[in-house]
Amino acid sequence: MLDYDLHCHSNISDGTLTPAEVVARAAGRGVKVLALTDHDDMDGLDEARAAAAQHGMVFINGVEISVTWRTHTVHIVGLGIDPVYAPLVSGLLGVRSGRGARAEKMAEALAKAGIGGTLQGAYRYAENPNMIGRTHFARYLVEAGHCKDVRSVFGRYLANGKTGYVPHRWAVLADAVSWIRGSGGVAVLAHPGRYMIGRHSMGKKTMHELLSEFVACGGQAIEVVSGSHTPEQYAEFARYAGEFNLLCSCGSDFHGPDESWRDMGRLPDFPLGCKPVWQLWEHDAASNPSNTLDVGRASARHVGLKPDLQ
Ligand code: AMP
Ligand code: MN
Ligand code: MN
Ligand code: MN
Repeated sequence: MLDYDLHCHSNISDGTLTPAEVVARAAGRGVKVLALTDHDDMDGLDEARAAAAQHGMVFINGVEISVTWRTHTVHIVGLGIDPVYAPLVSGLLGVRSGRGARAEKMAEALAKAGIGGTLQGAYRYAENPNMIGRTHFARYLVEAGHCKDVRSVFGRYLANGKTGYVPHRWAVLADAVSWIRGSGGVAVLAHPGRYMIGRHSMGKKTMHELLSEFVACGGQAIEVVSGSHTPEQYAEFARYAGEFNLLCSCGSDFHGPDESWRDMGRLPDFPLGCKPVWQLWEHDAASNPSNTLDVGRASARHVGLKPDLQ
């Protein structure tokens, strides 16, 4: 079992717990190294880092950036980022800025389908209004009795192609990777098994093209063990990691006690042959014991990533 959880959400994006509650839950479930990776926003990191220190946990600054690659929405996790690095801060501001207008269009589309009041309803669930997103709409639609749970709302109304889906242009892949890398972080392709075309996952050819481009622009790791992957997908993406010489990451993608694919921590081990992404920072900590395991330039106790991998 892995005691690293490098992908989860608080109510700074579309999770239901506060950053401190996420950290406490992770500690209670045996997580030793945690990254909070809210969508397109880093505002939860200070609170989470302080809570992690109280629990004696190693904390990694994280973020999950929404990207449009060709016609696909893909997510890039940044680990060990510097939350005050200006290009990253302004890049994320740009990514978030479209969310309000998108939400209005979603509400209009749902209203045309006979479901009213969703804009106000969704904002009631968005602790951070700048980060209004589909999950907040989904929670309101469950409350209003349209579906039994969040997942069925996506299947019926919010997934690509459904009534309430509004196409949107997020960040450019190379930009997202460069904001992360420029801030001293590691760029990780999140949950590659979740990129669907209709009911089918992205084909092999497209996945190869995505990974080639990701590596060419500085991507270094891929999520192999994700809360939203099946065991067959652990093996599949471990093979891609080998083929593209990528480091491997793991995370629950926890959003809340009642609506996650999987609870925090206690993730199964990587398939054999995977090189864990934490080699990047633990190598440095081991070779220079005066450093802590924190990564990222913002940290006063900065640990640089291995130069040849930066
Ligand atoms: P947005 O960034 O507003 O498009 O929202 C994306 C979020 O919606 C993801 O991060 C997930 O939390 C959630 N989501 C996407 N697809 C599903 C699904 N099929 N079931 C449950 N949640 C989903
Ligand atoms: Mn989410
Ligand atoms: Mn994601
Ligand atoms: Mn996520």
